[in-house]
Amino acid sequence: MRERPIITIDGPSGAGKTTVSKRLAERASLTRLDTGAMYRACALAAREAGVPWSDGARLGRLCADLRLAFRQEGGEMRILLCGEDASEAIRTPEISMGASEVSTHKAVREAMVRLQRKMGEKGGVVLEGRDTGTVVFPDADAKFVLDAAAAVRARRRFLEWGAGERKPFEEVLREVLLRDIQDSTREHSPLRMAEGAVYIDTTTMTAEEVVEEMLRRLLPEARKGLPGGATL
Ligand code: C5P
Repeated sequence: MRERPIITIDGPSGAGKTTVSKRLAERASLTRLDTGAMYRACALAAREAGVPWSDGARLGRLCADLRLAFRQEGGEMRILLCGEDASEAIRTPEISMGASEVSTHKAVREAMVRLQRKMGEKGGVVLEGRDTGTVVFPDADAKFVLDAAAAVRARRRFLEWGAGERKPFEEVLREVLLRDIQDSTREHSPLRMAEGAVYIDTTTMTAEEVVEEMLRRLLPEARKGLPGGATL
């Protein structure tokens, strides 16, 4: 029995996982583990090493030796790739598509899941991703799946970019839909509902409302390990 809970949040791009997991982590004093950032770092490392995103065998070897770490910095979680801060470099549209491609390979997933389990096994964590409740921690204390209408998810992505650097909305929507297909139809660990997960459609909800709903739905066992658990 873990003293502090493991909470998983899965769902497609733009469903609200990042915003919500940040707020939940703050509110319940949990460490946030962004598993998508790890696949992004893998895509970036591959590009820097000249390994094609389609080459599963070479990517698997690259990931097995990848030096990946997270560092909390003024309320923000930074990702370090071989000791270098890669938090901004992994957020480009190109790396988004690369992450979606590298994450289809079994060897890459195995290496990442191994690392994620090591980082989260002690509990006191909220993980966000696509397979955190189905594969990484199927025995998590609470599992959530967030979703929203595709147009709303694309709009959230669109608004993340400053006015000057924005691409046309139609292009963002196309990319979101393409990643949806890639992430939900792949052979290994496709995005799907984890057994026992709570599904929340965030289309018309604010992040605060989603967090409230999640806290309301937390089972007493999951609450127990949270500071101020009973009154959160
Ligand atoms: O969540 P984020 O957009 O940062 O994830 C980038 C990509 O990484 C996703 O499109 C998905 O293909 C992959 N991913 C995954 N499994 C996870 C998290 C992310 O396959 N647990």
